[in-house]
Amino acid sequence: MKAAAKPLGLYVHIPFCKRKCAYCDFYSLAGQEGRMDAYTAALCAHLAETAPFAAGHLVDTVYFGGGTPTYLGAKRLAEILKVIKKRYHLAKDAEITLEANPDSAADPKALRSLRKAGFDRISLGMQSACDTQLQAIGRLHTASQTVAAVEAARKAKFQNLSLDLIYGLPGQTLEQWRLDLSAAVALEPEHLSCYGLKVEEGTPFYSRRETLDLPGDDLQADMYLWTVDFLQEQGYVQYEISNFAKPGFASRHNLKYWTLQEYAGFGPGAHSDFGGVRYAYARDLEGYIQGVAGHMPMLSESERIPPLDRDTEWVMLSLRTAQGLDLRTFESRFRRRARCFLPFLESCRQAGYAVEEEPGRWHLTPRGFLVSNQIIGGLLDALAEDKRRRAEATARGDFRVDLD
Ligand code: SF4
Repeated sequence: MKAAAKPLGLYVHIPFCKRKCAYCDFYSLAGQEGRMDAYTAALCAHLAETAPFAAGHLVDTVYFGGGTPTYLGAKRLAEILKVIKKRYHLAKDAEITLEANPDSAADPKALRSLRKAGFDRISLGMQSACDTQLQAIGRLHTASQTVAAVEAARKAKFQNLSLDLIYGLPGQTLEQWRLDLSAAVALEPEHLSCYGLKVEEGTPFYSRRETLDLPGDDLQADMYLWTVDFLQEQGYVQYEISNFAKPGFASRHNLKYWTLQEYAGFGPGAHSDFGGVRYAYARDLEGYIQGVAGHMPMLSESERIPPLDRDTEWVMLSLRTAQGLDLRTFESRFRRRARCFLPFLESCRQAGYAVEEEPGRWHLTPRGFLVSNQIIGGLLDALAEDKRRRAEATARGDFRVDLD
């Protein structure tokens, strides 16, 4: 019997934006419209060149992210997707997502042609429903443009629509965040991503961080906990720390990142985990275009990671999801005991940060998600200590330690 093809996700990075937002540290450039054609050609060539390496894979998700993919224009986006359809084995029910900003996604004709080209999921960067707030964070769109973009997407028959929002914005109160999220829910998206603002080094916000009047940790935590309760009441299932979906609408592509499935990225700054190698292309538009022409796009990192060495990553990512950490899967996948985690998980349970949903499967509670970094740190410490103890016992020739 023929072996089933391995699933693969493709990520296509579009590094163009009309203007940079004040908080953004994604790799995207403003004022580079003149390079859009050259970049499209480079992407198409790179996708075609890489396709033979994915001959044994079935591409079941494709994600165009950015930057602002819709700023590239429907024609170029359709051209890139055409190469994927022609050169890769694309699953019939593949999820094909397009990120968009409301100001570049309100043209019903363009959206219809993108839908026709094969995109079936659209993710709109709404961020806030308040024009003053949108302006303060450097967004180009207005709240009414978001409403228009949702309407246009629905008219174009996008039946899977996601909205991205940010809480913890400068000067934002809990009441304002409630209004933002309520306005988003009123637009009836199938999916919502709600991220707390992080002020990243190198952004305009970072240089102004002392005067930004950012909500404190307690207020940010209240915003998050209210979000989880409110969205649950509205019928959205939380499937990851920051992601919520109506049943059946969790992002299949993003789930690949959190469950260590394979994905291949294209474009400057894009990451991949493909063929046992984790690699990323340098954040350099010209370097990428030239690199593809010379059949060697610039890598900024590349590491082959044996499957058994992925245990810490697996623990870390599993705990981000609502499914959580399944200790039996951990034991069979990494061939090591999981009981070293139990004392720490038990203390998390007592503190109200974790629950054992079914024997051996633990997940964090919303309060646990708020301190997930510390919890993950505690579990990784327990794993490191267990490895050290076993290595010492093996060096002593004492193999009983595996039987405890
Ligand atoms: S639109 Fe998105 S990618 Fe572009 S600058 Fe703003 S946050 Fe960054």
